[in-house]
Amino acid sequence: MLPSLFISHGSPMVALQPGDTGRALARLAGELPRPTAILVVSAHWETADLRLTSAPRQQAWHDFYGFPPALYALDYEPPGEPQLAREIVQLLEAAGLPAQLDPQRPLDHGAWVPLRMMYPQADIPVLQLSLPSRQGPALQTRLGRLLGGLRERGILLIGSGSITHNLRELDWDAGPEVVEPWAREFRDWLVERLQADDEAALHDYRQQAPWAVRSHPSDEHLLPLFFARGAGGEFRIEYQGFSKATISMDIYRFD
Ligand code: ZN
Repeated sequence: MLPSLFISHGSPMVALQPGDTGRALARLAGELPRPTAILVVSAHWETADLRLTSAPRQQAWHDFYGFPPALYALDYEPPGEPQLAREIVQLLEAAGLPAQLDPQRPLDHGAWVPLRMMYPQADIPVLQLSLPSRQGPALQTRLGRLLGGLRERGILLIGSGSITHNLRELDWDAGPEVVEPWAREFRDWLVERLQADDEAALHDYRQQAPWAVRSHPSDEHLLPLFFARGAGGEFRIEYQGFSKATISMDIYRFD
């Protein structure tokens, strides 16, 4: 059975310069059984209520500014799967979580940049579920648990965000070997609590983790981790690395 995944998607520039993260994603996709469909929760679709993409064809949205023209020329147009979207809405509604179908919303870069490296043919249907970010980690864990059964049907569930994410603290000159101690400390705490399967501490990370607020001034980039964890089983580290001294690029799987 497919694991659920947490992916640190990094800067949109990863699409042009995949580096170690891109190679790790491509390798991982090559090792996994081919999914029948993919459902992504990305940090870049924050909503008040749950929404789910339902268009028969998806498009990459270049939802970022000031990058090189070559980045805006990249596209990613996988099929959607409206019938699966309707089924998922029913599943959510049966659990008391109303959700709206959204036939307009394209894929944001938190979804298409990693998927383009994993499945460059764009021939696997992709759906995106929105992130009601005000509702915190517990809702994401619950959503993951509710939808985790889809893995048995070969559907790959992905949370896409970042294990640390403070854009005011980037060190643009730092090579991959340079890591700010506070960012590492936060990442290590998180990994330890994931290994211990300590849900109470994880949900309370803003109080309990060292450097939590510095690592996540707002927590939309960490929330997809809770979705991935809720959807899967045993925690495993697929890849670890840092970018610009403070952004963790870790990839985790829950088998
Ligand atoms: Zn992001």
